[in-house]
Formats: sequence, C-alpha cells, structure tokens
Amino acid sequence: MLDKQVLVEVRDLKKHFKVGRKQILKAVDGVSFDINLGETLGLVGESGCGKTTCGRTIMGLYDATEGEVYFKGEKIHDVSAKEKFNLTKKMQIIFQDPYASLNPRMTVGDIICEGIDIHQMYKGEARTKRLHELLDLVGLNQEHASRFPHEFSGGQRQRIGIARALAIEPEFIVCDEPISALDVSIQAQVVNLLIQLQEKLGLTYLFIAHDLSMVKHISDRVGVMYMGHMVEMTASENLYEKPLHPYTQALLSAIPEPDPDYSQSKERIQLEGEIPSPINPKPGCRFVSRCRHAKTACHEVTPVIKEVEPNHFVACHLFDC
Ligand code: SF4
Repeated sequence: MLDKQVLVEVRDLKKHFKVGRKQILKAVDGVSFDINLGETLGLVGESGCGKTTCGRTIMGLYDATEGEVYFKGEKIHDVSAKEKFNLTKKMQIIFQDPYASLNPRMTVGDIICEGIDIHQMYKGEARTKRLHELLDLVGLNQEHASRFPHEFSGGQRQRIGIARALAIEPEFIVCDEPISALDVSIQAQVVNLLIQLQEKLGLTYLFIAHDLSMVKHISDRVGVMYMGHMVEMTASENLYEKPLHPYTQALLSAIPEPDPDYSQSKERIQLEGEIPSPINPKPGCRFVSRCRHAKTACHEVTPVIKEVEPNHFVACHLFDC
C-alpha cells in the first residue's frame, strides 16, 4: 500500500491571547496533527474549544504564539510577505457566516473574482469565462454574477463563498463551520457540494464543525478538541463506533438517533460540572471537572495524546500503561 502524502503538518501549535494585564487565554495550546493529501479531517468540539482559532492559525490569519505549520513541507508562519502571498493561492477558507462574509456593496462576480484580480490570474474574456465556470461549479447561474449578496438565500450565499474560495485554484481549504448558520434542509446540500468538489478538484479539507453527524458524513478522520487540546483523533468510522475519550463519548451520546428503539436503549451521558475557564488554565486534565472517571492523577498531570490502538490517538489517563 502506498504511503499517504502529508499536505499540512501542524506541530505543537499554540495560539494564546492576552486578556487584561496578566491573564492569558489559551485558545489553542499545543496541538499536533497531519492532514493528508485529498482527505477531509474533521475538527469538532463545543463552542470555545479552540477549533476555529486552530483553523485560522493554520491559515496564517492569526500569528502562532508557538509551534509550526508546514504546507507541502514549507513553513507557513514567519515567512516574507511575498511567500505568504504565494501561499494564500494554495490555501483558502470558507467562513461560517455567509451573511457577514460577503461585501454587500460588491456584485457576486466581483466578490468571486477578488482573488483572481489580486493574483492577476485572468483578465477580460478569460476572467469572465473563469467566473462562469466557477458559478457553474457551485450550482449558480451566469446571470447571478451581476447581482448583489442580499438577493440570495443563505445556501446560495454559501455557494458564492465556496466559489470565491475556489477561484484561485487552491489545494487546501479550511471550512470553518460552513453550514452552522444555514437551515437544516440546506446543510446537506452544501456538504454534498463540498464532497463533489473535492472529488472533482482533488481538494484537501479541514472541516470545522460542532454538528457531529454532519462531520461523520464528510470526514475521513476526526479530531476532537477540548479547551485548546486535542483529546482524541482517529478514522471517522472508528470514532463513532468506538469513542475512547470520556468527552468524545459524551458528545456522541447526545447525537439524536433516527431509530426510536435504538434511541431509547442508548445511554445519554450528561456532562455535569463546571466548564473551566480557558484563561490561565490549571495543570491536569482540562476535562476533569466534568469527567465521571476522574482520578487523582487527572487533577495533577496533563494527559499527553498518544496512540492507544493503531491510528487511534487519545489524551486520557485511563489509557496510561
Ligand atoms: Fe477523565 Fe482523567 Fe481521562 Fe481527563 S484524564 S478524561 S479527567 S479520566
């Protein structure tokens, strides 16, 4: 079997924010993982777990506090403005809010072609041809190019956001909760579009979401974040069939089941206890105040993520040898 080719490497990445004089909010606090060429890595966790900050720091939208990100073996942070400019052609982001992320004063055509114009990729007729190709790719019509964002529904606006991300032919796209602001009926359409585009264009995704059922549908592997740490990462099917970290088990137990018989027999794990503050967090496991398996070591020693089964990584003292 051929080895998987790594596209993005994230090494001990930290993003801390200063809050007041002495307080530090540790939004991302030392995460490491690879994203393989052509795969979708899902990143899940509750609001405030650091998943969006992680995605934006990988993209270089935030400077990293510590750690490294490599794209095709090349460092992304601490590079010259010119190198960063070239890298942005290869890495794009689809934002969460299709209402706020499109300039209301620009036409759809100009929004989609902004990157093309900045990178001077196409002009005149070639630009128009490329614009029409992009509209077609995302299921919009050519006549939509002269309209303004307010004339579109939420799902259509997210299609515009996807076309904008695709315009400069990226290889890697961070999908930052791209469906959470949409109606449930539209979410599946957008996810299916992203899957089709991935197959057609050979894209690699980091798909950030808090809806675990949708993440399962699109992801090859899934990472679970809790308070700035990666607590579990494995193949998507494995995570949903055999979650090992107590936090992942609780998250998955809360997913509604379509089968009422199964739903009644399924144990629902209620997360109790206070959610600790990510500002100046204490040593020990960050999940300790809500974990029903907590033991003494959990209050004192921060668990390190390690491979507990082939390709199944967990950060929890229950798996210390
Ligand atoms: Fe629970 Fe301890 Fe594991 Fe943290 S390390 S998840 S507190 S058992």
